[in-house]
Amino acid sequence: MATNVSASGDAAYIAKSLLMPNGKPNGFVGSSNALVDENGGEEATQLQDGLSCSELFLNGEGLTYNDFLILPGYIDFAAENVDLSSPLTRKIILRAPLVSSPMDTVTESEMAIAMALCGGIGIIHHNCTPEYQALEVHKVKKYKHGFMRDPSVMSPTNTVGDVLEARRKNGFTGYPVTENGKLGGRLLGMVTSRDIDFRENQPDVLLEDIMTRDLITAPNGITLPTANAILEKSKKGKLPIVNEAGELVAMIARTDLKKARSYPNASKDSNKQLLVGAAIGTRHEDKTRLQLLVANGVDVIILDSSQGNSIYQIEMIKYIKETYPDLQVIGGNVVTRAQAKNLIDAGVDGLRVGMGSGSICITQEVMACGCPQATAVYQVSTYAKQFGVPVIADGGIQSIGHIVKALALGASAVMMGSLLAGTSEAPGEYFFSDGVRLKKYRGMGSLEAMERGDAKGAAMSRYYHNEMDKMKVAQGVSGSIVDKGSVLRYLPYLECGLQHSCQDIGANSVQKLREMIYNGQLRFMKRTHSAQLEGNVHGLFSYEKRLF
Ligand code: GDP
Ligand code: 5GP
Repeated sequence: MATNVSASGDAAYIAKSLLMPNGKPNGFVGSSNALVDENGGEEATQLQDGLSCSELFLNGEGLTYNDFLILPGYIDFAAENVDLSSPLTRKIILRAPLVSSPMDTVTESEMAIAMALCGGIGIIHHNCTPEYQALEVHKVKKYKHGFMRDPSVMSPTNTVGDVLEARRKNGFTGYPVTENGKLGGRLLGMVTSRDIDFRENQPDVLLEDIMTRDLITAPNGITLPTANAILEKSKKGKLPIVNEAGELVAMIARTDLKKARSYPNASKDSNKQLLVGAAIGTRHEDKTRLQLLVANGVDVIILDSSQGNSIYQIEMIKYIKETYPDLQVIGGNVVTRAQAKNLIDAGVDGLRVGMGSGSICITQEVMACGCPQATAVYQVSTYAKQFGVPVIADGGIQSIGHIVKALALGASAVMMGSLLAGTSEAPGEYFFSDGVRLKKYRGMGSLEAMERGDAKGAAMSRYYHNEMDKMKVAQGVSGSIVDKGSVLRYLPYLECGLQHSCQDIGANSVQKLREMIYNGQLRFMKRTHSAQLEGNVHGLFSYEKRLF
């Protein structure tokens, strides 16, 4: 498509920005798609292909990610040096702009742990009882520590049965044993999996009869690196930290030492615990749910609504901001500036954008409401940026290319459902159909999800408003998705792909990519139907598409 951009303010900006500090032009400077010559910018205009982001959306058509491409820029850095850090909310910065969706076939603690280890964040769904959801949050927060300042402790009179029960609840087996069974009591020993192995049938045996008493400990006040060095040398699984009176004050675990090495970019809070989010609704009883989540250390709350521009959500945002001023709140979903304005005015720290673009959605078909996702992301991001409110592009992400496009339209992070469903960390069991290994993936507005009645309890209210509603109108479908293996392998693939894509575009960071949108350096091109066909594999009799 031939586009005359000679009158574009974007081009003028680039020409100006590439002048040397002394006001003279910087010869020919390659930077993204901009080239400036001795004539102070005329050449820049001539060599500027494609459209700026604002021009891409100028005529008001609804575009999807597949309707355009980003033109390549200038590379003067290595892909591995591309910085993927990006804000999730006003206060939370992620090392990778990846978020797992609060869906009951996508995010519980296992997924949230993996997302955070890889630099993103998981949002625990709320299609369950408040207690179940809070426990999932608790598992993520407990997963990884520097110093465990509140380790679970046993007393000498606890039994093997107590340890087995605690293991079932907490997922770990190593417990310090103190005189009074509490943190701060005199340390007497440790019980670990090796002490209780083969004793499943002896639940009444007392810990004082089987615990390990010969312990290596470290003194209170020790630094984490020194404590880690002792742990490394000791070949033990845990290092209890004790004060001068021999009382337990903290503990560190060998597994954490190993994990910290394998996941240097993990998303952590100031106490080195993994970050986790949770979704809630906007009903009165959600305030009790919220209280439980906060008590368990949740870092960010997402108000889960398919149409977030409502009095209910606005009141809930205000309530949360008044009651828990330090808690980050993401509102949504929205797709228009007017919707965004109301939630920003109410005080949100982030916005979730998308209506009807999800792979399992039938909202646009049934409700006639929604917005093509690329347009929604662009228009809300452009507006929210003025207030410093980050945007999460939610739904319709099918590939690395879609992630890059969402970021290139102004989103700060993407939320994924189908891309992460089918991994071993997604809730649910694998099953086989025609020899293919599958997992269930369903919309939270599918009848099946709304009618959930298992041990986790039914509580979803995103897609219907009243328990007494006689008729539920489905806004999603229920299906299955092919096994993708572990997300701990899949996320590094996504991140590495993102770095390579940013390199092609000429942006050495996600932040730079965003800057390039608004100064016109980032150039786009619409794709005709045949251009889309050309961009896909064609003309082969057969092929195998292996991605990593
Ligand atoms: P264990 O040997 O079965 O205790 O398990 P690991 O040491 O391999 O893993 C335990 C994981 O749970 C580590 O990441 C710990 O940081 C984490 N964790 C969180 N809270 C606690 C706690 O109170 N006690 C123990 N043992 N681990 C905890
Ligand atoms: P995906 O990544 O699979 O394309 O989309 C996931 C997103 O779809 C979720 O984050 C959520 O916003 C949205 N979603 C989840 N379930 C439903 C549903 O049943 N109906 C609709 N309309 N959207 C859904």
